[in-house]
Amino acid sequence: AQERYASIRDKPAETLCGARIGLMMNAGLMADLPSLVGSGAEGVGLFRTELQFLIRNHMPKRAELSDLYARVMDAAQGKQVTFRTLDIGSDKVLPYMKATDEPNPALGWRAIRIGLDRPGVMRMQLQALVRAAAGRPLSVMFPFVAQLEEFAAARAEMDKALERERILGHPLPSDLKVGAMLETPSLAYAPDSFYRDVDFLSIGGNDLKQFFFAADRENELVRRRYDTLNVSFLTFLENIVKRCEKTGTPLSFCGEDAGRPVEAACLAAIGLRSLSMRPASIGPVKSILRRIDLTELHALIHEAAERGDQSVRPAAMDYLRGKL
Ligand code: PEP
Ligand code: MG
Repeated sequence: AQERYASIRDKPAETLCGARIGLMMNAGLMADLPSLVGSGAEGVGLFRTELQFLIRNHMPKRAELSDLYARVMDAAQGKQVTFRTLDIGSDKVLPYMKATDEPNPALGWRAIRIGLDRPGVMRMQLQALVRAAAGRPLSVMFPFVAQLEEFAAARAEMDKALERERILGHPLPSDLKVGAMLETPSLAYAPDSFYRDVDFLSIGGNDLKQFFFAADRENELVRRRYDTLNVSFLTFLENIVKRCEKTGTPLSFCGEDAGRPVEAACLAAIGLRSLSMRPASIGPVKSILRRIDLTELHALIHEAAERGDQSVRPAAMDYLRGKL
């Protein structure tokens, strides 16, 4: 599939109206990194660090992790990599951690909630990341943040990791960006101060959508029931874009929908300028973005909303078909 898009691999994802969309890839294993060159991605927008924890039968040691993170940065050859701290719980259970019995795991003890309640692992991971960066820029984001205090506490852990490394005399990152994933509707309504405190936000559309529609992403009975291009959801996302524009917060979108061409086009039309997706999606998404005018598509989205359409999909598909 990558061969099919080889002719546009080194071209920008620039729309007919002149908007440049940053296309990044999602990764989680060292084996994913060669795709960074092959796909034409501008960097890794989401590195899911839990995969390293899930493929072992014991807790990895700090030295192993920092070696691995350093190799990931080496392989990226200066392109940006955004590491997401451990996102476990819910559907991702570590074989060597005591399982919890929760009635609603998706709404339960997971991700940053575990990170803050059992800070040992998070501290080790942050230190491994800082040590791996050593003189290079570092970008880290925390999953599943639902309120300001969680982000503040996580960032304080990052400050402590930096301080520890400084005392040990190790070289610090040349630049540090600490962001949050926006995966719970509560963050869409967080105070402006939150938007200013984070260095960036990344919308985790898979989780955000399941909470927006109250439809479990793992439950076959309901997971396909609500369309991402549902007018209510797009309006909600557009409001987040507007808030980020107002506060000057860099925003990206890293859920699976970023890699679906029709969805990606609509996300760009409502103002997203950075999308992170599986490597094989970069070509198809870039190809469609290069043929469309976002102003036209944006107008269609608003007309669909005004008509009272449930989903923008039929109107968007009509428009996109005309561009192929
Ligand atoms: C998401 O929720 O959209 C996301 C990118 O994180 P994950 O799919 O790993 O939960
Ligand atoms: Mg998520």
